[in-house]
Amino acid sequence: MESTSDGSALWNLTLQHSPIGMALVAPNGRLLRVNPAMADMLGYAVADLTKRGFQEITHPDDLAEDLALVTQALAGEIDSYRLRKRYLHAEGYVVWGDLSVALVRGQDGLPLHFISQILDVTEHQEQAERLRAAHADVERERQALEAIFETVGVGLLLIGQDGRYERTNRRHQEAIEVAFPDGHAGEAGQLGHVYHLDGRTPMSREEMPSYRAVQGEEFDDYSYWAGADPRTRSAYSTSARQVRNASGERIGATLACQEITELMRAVQVKDEFVASVSHELRTPLTTVLGYLEILAGRGDLPADVTRQLRVVQRNAARLESLVSDLLHVGRAGDGDLRLRPEPVDLVALVRQASEVARPVAGASGVSLTLDVPERLVTVVDEQRIRQVLDNLLSNAVKYSETNDSVTVVLRETEGGVELEVRDTGIGIAPDEVDQVFDRFFRGGDALAKHIPGTGLGLDIVGSIVAAHEGTISVESEVGRGSTFRVTLPLLEA
Ligand code: ADP
Repeated sequence: MESTSDGSALWNLTLQHSPIGMALVAPNGRLLRVNPAMADMLGYAVADLTKRGFQEITHPDDLAEDLALVTQALAGEIDSYRLRKRYLHAEGYVVWGDLSVALVRGQDGLPLHFISQILDVTEHQEQAERLRAAHADVERERQALEAIFETVGVGLLLIGQDGRYERTNRRHQEAIEVAFPDGHAGEAGQLGHVYHLDGRTPMSREEMPSYRAVQGEEFDDYSYWAGADPRTRSAYSTSARQVRNASGERIGATLACQEITELMRAVQVKDEFVASVSHELRTPLTTVLGYLEILAGRGDLPADVTRQLRVVQRNAARLESLVSDLLHVGRAGDGDLRLRPEPVDLVALVRQASEVARPVAGASGVSLTLDVPERLVTVVDEQRIRQVLDNLLSNAVKYSETNDSVTVVLRETEGGVELEVRDTGIGIAPDEVDQVFDRFFRGGDALAKHIPGTGLGLDIVGSIVAAHEGTISVESEVGRGSTFRVTLPLLEA
């Protein structure tokens, strides 16, 4: 055996110092010689390992393949082979080896032994497996996201930093087709059949949701109508968020759009209904009020009938003011609030309004004080501003209790007029303050205490103030009272 293994010093030296595991293996598989690298790799002493057959140190699952190759080599079908296989370390764990085997034959052609070289590739193999597992995880995640992306009932769009559409789902594609029946170039800001909520004003490039998103804006519930034909168009509500990479740089934006056509149509129907009902109610009511006026003026009626007539008159008047509130809301909703501006002394207007409120305040034990200058003239629609004052004052009194006080402050500020209606009444809950100007909103306290109202007053006040290019705000504390502050521009006659 020794002579056939060619014991030249060079060979021995190589074997001894090679970092690669090397073995001389008998045709039956016995390890004839192993080098320290091989023994080390498998956790044996050299002497210990040479007693064994390669079958013993091979992982059972990989043995058949190796044996088949050995058989082929011995049969002369191949001279050498290469195989990535698992070995068993002395301590029981797996060592991955990249095995290269060559069969050496004697001069008579008979097999002498195999020369095997084994490179420990465990780390490499483990890394590859970890990578494969990570890839599989990413792929699973991708598929799940893809499924969600396509299934959600919301249109989704991913826009690149340069404004190009990178991905859209089916829903978004449908929304695009409604707004751009002639096709979309896949770039933010393209103009199409997209209109503001009034249904008339086309959206400019700068107003398009995708364009705004690319400019770095984030928004929610930005709504529009899409489609050329007003009878068949669809309404959408969109939200945008910025997409950033790991270092926080902006790399694009996402846009989500939800179809809200039915909701918008329902709102439209409601507004139209309110407008037409209030319009229809007004005409007969005017007649009723007219005849009541005539009746009340007659001197020949019994005293109790006159008293009863006053009650009817008061209630009919209340009904009329309700109807005109509803009419107002209908018109303001259409953006159709026409003003008749003229120079008006606001002080006189405040005095008139407070004279009307005073009897009601007195009946509830609420005091009413004015803190106003001599005169303050600016250009406003007198009737509308009177409506603002009436609403704020009647609220202040209505939401106050016995011994509370209401103060109206009017003053000139730089370039403007400031009107404050303060009360020491029941106040507004913090989570309701932002809603008091919403149409039909009524506070929880107002409802619980059965304080009559429609939730229209402050909506009307808000729209009148806005039409005058003024502002309105409120500060309030529950149990301590509220201050409504209106500013109006001071305009020369
Ligand atoms: P309404 O008084 O008919 O309910 P408004 O639009 O005038 O409707 O007011 C909306 C809601 O705002 C009221 O229901 C009430 O909860 C609250 N509110 C308005 N003014 C006051 C006030 N001065 N003090 C307390 N709450 C108020």
